[in-house]
Amino acid sequence: MRALTFQGIKDVACTEAPDPTLEQPTDAIVRVELSAICGSDLHVYRGAEAGLDPGTVLGHEFAGEVLEVGSAVEGIAPGDRVVAPFSTSCGACPACERGLSSRCEVGQLFGWVEGGQGLHGGQAELVRVPLAGTSLVKVKDGRDPAALFAGDVMSTGMYLAALGGVGPGDRVAVIGCGPVGLMAVVAALDMGAAEVFALDLLEDRLELARSFGATPVQASDPAQLPAAVDASLEAVGSPSSTRLAFELLRPGGTLAAAGVHVEPQLAFSPGEAYDKNLTYRAGRSPARSLLEPALELAARSGVDRIVSHRIPLAEAAHGYRIFDGRLDGATKVLLEP
Ligand SMILES: [Zn+2]
Ligand SMILES: [Zn+2]
Repeated sequence: MRALTFQGIKDVACTEAPDPTLEQPTDAIVRVELSAICGSDLHVYRGAEAGLDPGTVLGHEFAGEVLEVGSAVEGIAPGDRVVAPFSTSCGACPACERGLSSRCEVGQLFGWVEGGQGLHGGQAELVRVPLAGTSLVKVKDGRDPAALFAGDVMSTGMYLAALGGVGPGDRVAVIGCGPVGLMAVVAALDMGAAEVFALDLLEDRLELARSFGATPVQASDPAQLPAAVDASLEAVGSPSSTRLAFELLRPGGTLAAAGVHVEPQLAFSPGEAYDKNLTYRAGRSPARSLLEPALELAARSGVDRIVSHRIPLAEAAHGYRIFDGRLDGATKVLLEP
């Protein structure tokens, strides 16, 4: 099959890769109809997260058609259209039962193979899905971007708003208007926020945030910054955005972070946290646990407007370059096998 594989830092290529096969009775093979490049793929691309084997098939956002299932797979059959969350989960361990599928005891992240162990990703023609019956969710159309987004950016945006404790009447700041930040805008307004300030440096992303109902804020202009918000939803994953999120909060406010962080320390001190009576919540979104409500919210929110590019899988390396460099208005790049 053809697949987008990691070769080294800032080096990805569409290459031939072995067709995946059923390895466990709980596996399924999915023929990918639509996949996407995620901001967290860029951490790997840029070398901010290291350890990936060269030749790893990248990507954890995909939807498509079930081709084949193992003998122990229940609820999913060949011909079904499905979306995958970005990691697999068993549905039965304590983490899964608590609604924290992202910390499933036997779950694996798609697109991460290290030392020969792990799971290839979905930026490919075919992908093997372990724990298929408890990981995949049926959708009407494997080519629908809204369904695809439920598996990661929509569920992550919802989780971010939930971590922030967003409720009716709240004033909320969203730091970073990439796909997850934009989905957090949608989720926060859906949860009853009175006003959502959307901060970014790029005017086209601020325009998208406005289209979803946010108040756009040019983050480089101190005069535009809101003050004393109830919740700051940090969707960038950098120390400077965490610092900004901290400074915008009222005393007793909540700082929530659902992007991938790789720095060793927080951007505020214990003393500053004490002086603000801060609540800080962070972590990887339990995409499977949130997938059904994410499908529902995505379907009625017009989220496909964040798609800036649809390109053939064969040209995926170009997709990484423009998304990495924020070139050509790249906000969300979809890949079509
Ligand atoms: Zn992702
Ligand atoms: Zn589990």
